[in-house]
Amino acid sequence: MNSLQTTTQAERILDAVPDELFIGGWTPSQDHRTLTVYNPATDLPIKTIADGSPDDGLKALGAAAQAAQHWARTSPLDRSNLLRKVYEAVIDKSEEMATLITLEMGKTLSEARTEVVYGADYIRWYSEEAVRFEGRNRLSPDGLSRIVTSKEPVGPSLLITPWNFPLAMATRKIAPALAAGCTVILKPAELTPLTSLFLARLLGEAGVPEGVVNVVTTSNAPGLSEAMMKDNRLRKVSFTGSTVVGKRLVAQASDQMLRMSMELGGNAPLIVFEDADLDNAVKGAVTAKLRNGGQSCVASNRILVHESVADAFVDKFARQMAGVTLGNGLDPATALGPLIDGRAVDKCALFVEDAIGKGARAVVGGKRVPGAGHFYPATVLDHVPLEARIMHEEVFGPVAPVYRFATDEEAVSVANDTPFGLASFIFSRDLNRVQGIVDQLQSGMVGVNRGTVSNVAAPFGGIKHSGLGREGGSEGIEEYLNVKYVAYDRA
Ligand code: ADP
Repeated sequence: MNSLQTTTQAERILDAVPDELFIGGWTPSQDHRTLTVYNPATDLPIKTIADGSPDDGLKALGAAAQAAQHWARTSPLDRSNLLRKVYEAVIDKSEEMATLITLEMGKTLSEARTEVVYGADYIRWYSEEAVRFEGRNRLSPDGLSRIVTSKEPVGPSLLITPWNFPLAMATRKIAPALAAGCTVILKPAELTPLTSLFLARLLGEAGVPEGVVNVVTTSNAPGLSEAMMKDNRLRKVSFTGSTVVGKRLVAQASDQMLRMSMELGGNAPLIVFEDADLDNAVKGAVTAKLRNGGQSCVASNRILVHESVADAFVDKFARQMAGVTLGNGLDPATALGPLIDGRAVDKCALFVEDAIGKGARAVVGGKRVPGAGHFYPATVLDHVPLEARIMHEEVFGPVAPVYRFATDEEAVSVANDTPFGLASFIFSRDLNRVQGIVDQLQSGMVGVNRGTVSNVAAPFGGIKHSGLGREGGSEGIEEYLNVKYVAYDRA
């Protein structure tokens, strides 16, 4: 067993997590309400922290607004060097950070370690981008003026993150914001706030000035964000979470005309054509389904397989899914951890029952696991009809529905028959066919012959009801920049 996996060591890590709000230049009162965080593998409480109020949100906004001008005027190189220091601090504390992620979110320790590297990499990438964004200087078409553009930070930004990647979703927002010269208020998910508080501590220790990053943990996300979004010192909201909340925030943002970035829900199709390398398609499908226990907005929600290879695919896929060990993420033997809470388990059970009731067959799994913790096993459903709920709604769990299609046209039409448009995956050896299908798929990202798309250097984001804007890559920093255009008379 790894040395960090004993209970006492886990407790020591929890002791290193601050239990107060992290607001620059402000000492929280002692009589704060509290919020308790639970371990989804045991359903036992792991730590109690401050439960911030809407007023705390406004204090954090005040701190971010006060620090904004100075931070915007620091040199790009200073910001770059500081981010690099933060990156090194996170890497230095990788094992502690990974354990914390597993404790509060449930994913396996090996996946948590991968998340730490991935999350830290956003900080490294944007430490490098901090010195690279630039404007233009060109002659107007009529030759009478010079068009000069520059980029300016949008200003104080509210960053709202979900519970599924407690570190990476925070760094994917904080790093480009800081690189661009924006100050931020991070509002982590109430189910997994500890990783953000630990990150805040590392940011402070690395020398990020007071007020540049503020972290407010709360069980009242709607009240806090509403109060902040009415205040004209806030200039931007970056949100990752459900489409229903995202739409509400977009509506609220109109009041102060805030810049918005929205990473919302998905309903990713994974299409296996008859000429695919089936072993590779199975590998991709297992990854796309089981990464993070299926609790990812790019998880393959619907597996569409050509009817001529469906029996062979389902056979191989089912064998791999049946071999997945379910358990506490801290146990090295575990390949699939618990789901985040009881509601997530209920949703899997409901969607499986619904699909079976409409004619699907459970080939693997499909039954709740009794006992403490929120476990649902890796499940494969075959012959799932299009009218099953799982074909239209995100299951956000380890349930893989297989639908058999006859033609490319049918595959594309089923794939696009959703209001969402985040990611798609396709498996085929024929690159001409791949390009033709890619052109027709309505999604912001497509994985070809692979089950993952996330990369710090790539623009992550969706179309349709999956959101607005992109995170990661050189596109990600633009979300935190305004363009200023100056017209110089040529004379
Ligand atoms: P999920 O269903 O995955 O928990 P949510 O969209 O409910 O997704 O939550 C994502 C993030 O949005 C969390 O940090 C949560 O606290 C926050 N949140 C939830 N409801 C609201 C709201 N009405 N306004 C602002 N933030 C919200």
